[in-house]
Amino acid sequence: MYTRTGNPTRALLESTLAELEGGLRGWAWASGMAAVHAVLATLPSGSHVVLADDVYFGVRHLFETAFADQLAFTSADLSQPGALDAAWTPETQLVWAETPSNPLLRITDLAALADEVHARGATLAVDGTWATPVLQRPLERGADLVVHSLTKYIAGHSDLIGGAILAREESEHTQRIDELQKSAGAVLDPFSCWLTLRGMRTLAVRVRAQTRTAQILAERLDEHAAVARVHYPGLASHAGHPIAARQMDTFGAMLSFEVAGPDDNEMRARRVANALATFRQATSLGGTESLVEHRASVEGDGTRAPQTLLRVSVGLEHVEDLWSDLEAALAA
Ligand SMILES: *Cc1c(COP(=O)(O)O)cnc(C)c1O
Repeated sequence: MYTRTGNPTRALLESTLAELEGGLRGWAWASGMAAVHAVLATLPSGSHVVLADDVYFGVRHLFETAFADQLAFTSADLSQPGALDAAWTPETQLVWAETPSNPLLRITDLAALADEVHARGATLAVDGTWATPVLQRPLERGADLVVHSLTKYIAGHSDLIGGAILAREESEHTQRIDELQKSAGAVLDPFSCWLTLRGMRTLAVRVRAQTRTAQILAERLDEHAAVARVHYPGLASHAGHPIAARQMDTFGAMLSFEVAGPDDNEMRARRVANALATFRQATSLGGTESLVEHRASVEGDGTRAPQTLLRVSVGLEHVEDLWSDLEAALAA
C-alpha cells in the first residue's frame, strides 16, 4: 500500500533474519545506527542504561548526543562477572551488550548476563554485528533483542548501509519498535533489502572461510616479534576464549593487534597500516576485501582504543597473500 508502512521485499528480509537468529520477528532499518536509535527510543524518558564499555563508538556517541537529555547511562565491563552490581540504578531499564566487542574483542557470557538482567527485571539487547547469526545467536541464550548492522557481514559486499532488530518475543519494546518503524520511517529501501537477501545466500560460506583465515593470521601474529598483543577469541590465551568456545560456533573474522613499542606511539601503528597493500585502509568490516584501520584515528577525540592498535576485518583473499602483506608491513 505504501512502502514506509510495509513492503514485501522488506518483509521477506525481516522474516529471514528472524528465522536465522531464532527470533519471533524482525525490523529492517536504514542503517545499523537507525536500528540502535529505534531500540533506545522505546525507553521511557529518564531511563538508565548499562552500556558495555568496549561498545561500538557510534552507540556511545548516540547516548552522549541525541539521547543526552533523555537517557542516562553507565559504562561497565560486561565481560566481568558482577559488572552490573556497581552500574545498576533503580531506573535501569536496559543493558546493552556487544560480544565480541569493538575493538578489543572482549567476550561477554550472554546466557549468564541474560539471567542476571532478567532477575533484575530489565531488558537485554545485544549488538550481534561482529559474530553474525552464523556464529552466535544471542536470542537463543536469553537476550531479548539483537541488533545488526547489515552493512557488514550480513549484506557482506560493502555496497549498502542497513540495520536490523530481531526480537525473541512480543513485548512493550517490540510494539513501540513496530510503531516507530512505520511512523518515524527510517526503513531500509526495497532494493537494499533485495541486495541484503542476495548477500545472505553466501553468508555462511563467507563467514566460515573468513574465520578460518582469521584464526591462522591471529596465531601467526601472536608469535611475531613486532606484535605486542593480539586480541582474538580463537587464541587459547584470550581471556574470553572458554566462553567464546561455548557460545560461538567459531571465533569470527575480526581481530585486532597492538604493534610493539611505547604505548603512546601511534606513528608506528600507522606506519604498519600505511605499509599494507592487500589490506585496504577503510573504516568498515565484514566485506569480501580485507580491511585494516587505526581505530583511534577513526574514532578521534574521546577514543578509548589504544594508539598502538590496528583493527582488522579479514576478507576472502588467500591466507598466504594476507600473511605476506602483514609480514612485509611489520618489517617496514
Ligand atoms: C558498523 C556498526 C554499527 C553501526 O552500523 P551502521 O550500519 O554503520 O549504521 C553498529 N555496531 C557495530 C558493532 C558496527 O560494527
